[in-house]
Amino acid sequence: LGLIEGRQIAEILRGATAVDVAGLREKGVAPTLGIVVPTDDKSTASYVDSLVRVAETIGIDIRRTDLVEPSGEEVAAVVGELSTNPDVHGVLCQSPLPPGVLLGDIGAQIHPSKDVDGANPTSLGRLAAGLPAFAPATAQAVIEILRHEQVGLRAADAVVVGRSNIVGKPVALLLVAEDATVTVCHSQTEDLAGQARRADVLVVAVGRPKLIGAEHVKRGAIVVDVGINVTGEGDIVGDVDTAAVEQIARITPVPGGVGPVTTSVLLRNIAGAAGAKRLEEVT
Ligand code: NAD
Repeated sequence: LGLIEGRQIAEILRGATAVDVAGLREKGVAPTLGIVVPTDDKSTASYVDSLVRVAETIGIDIRRTDLVEPSGEEVAAVVGELSTNPDVHGVLCQSPLPPGVLLGDIGAQIHPSKDVDGANPTSLGRLAAGLPAFAPATAQAVIEILRHEQVGLRAADAVVVGRSNIVGKPVALLLVAEDATVTVCHSQTEDLAGQARRADVLVVAVGRPKLIGAEHVKRGAIVVDVGINVTGEGDIVGDVDTAAVEQIARITPVPGGVGPVTTSVLLRNIAGAAGAKRLEEVT
């Protein structure tokens, strides 16, 4: 029971990636992330600044393009250029995108071998087909946390709340690949509490504070809270009533849970993409 330290897991992963990056640099490869920031949104900028800082401390170079009120075509063009640039190993486009523009349409410009945050629908399709592909870093982070906590996933009852292409669906696919029995809940699910209470592993990715309370959680379960919400008071909280749930289950806090692990996974993916010659080698 109690809180799972995401920052600690993130640090362990980052240490391993730093070693890989140093090895690549010795061979003359400078792992490089191309990142497109299509907004002047302040919280996006501060997230990107911190990602850049962490990347640089472990030896990953950054090519950053900031665009102010761009059209979807402009964003797609810059992302496409980064994807064809041989000096760039991984490509990431930050949200929010211009109104009406779909992440999948921008992600489609990223070659799957450089798609370090699984934004290309082809990557999701390959994941579903069991082919080598990058899953979205957040989805991989959920699995890393479960691994680190030594949760046995074979035949475990896993419930994923949320079905987005960037979190819910890929998490469900990764859990199936780990031999869990997976239920996906979403906005149309009836009796969410009844479904969630069956879970040994409960992953929540909705974007609603306190959607999940103690009545949704089986005693002794592990709960991974992916949600990021800003309250009226300006606090960052997840989707789970952490104070209530930590009494009966293990749970990742927000902040300090999935978020830092996601960053570490993203860095690992960049190193992986830089070290691989073919997509078959990246995962
Ligand atoms: P989304 O809006 O694309 O999807 C939300 C999902 O929740 C939908 O599938 C919807 O069906 C489901 N849903 C909505 N209301 C529901 C309800 N009452 N009961 C059950 N399901 C319901 O969001 P997303 O991009 O998947 O992100 C989800 C959350 O995760 C957000 O808070 C986001 O900020 C956060 N997030 C965190 C990270 C991270 O690294 N920690 C990364 C991506 C997203």
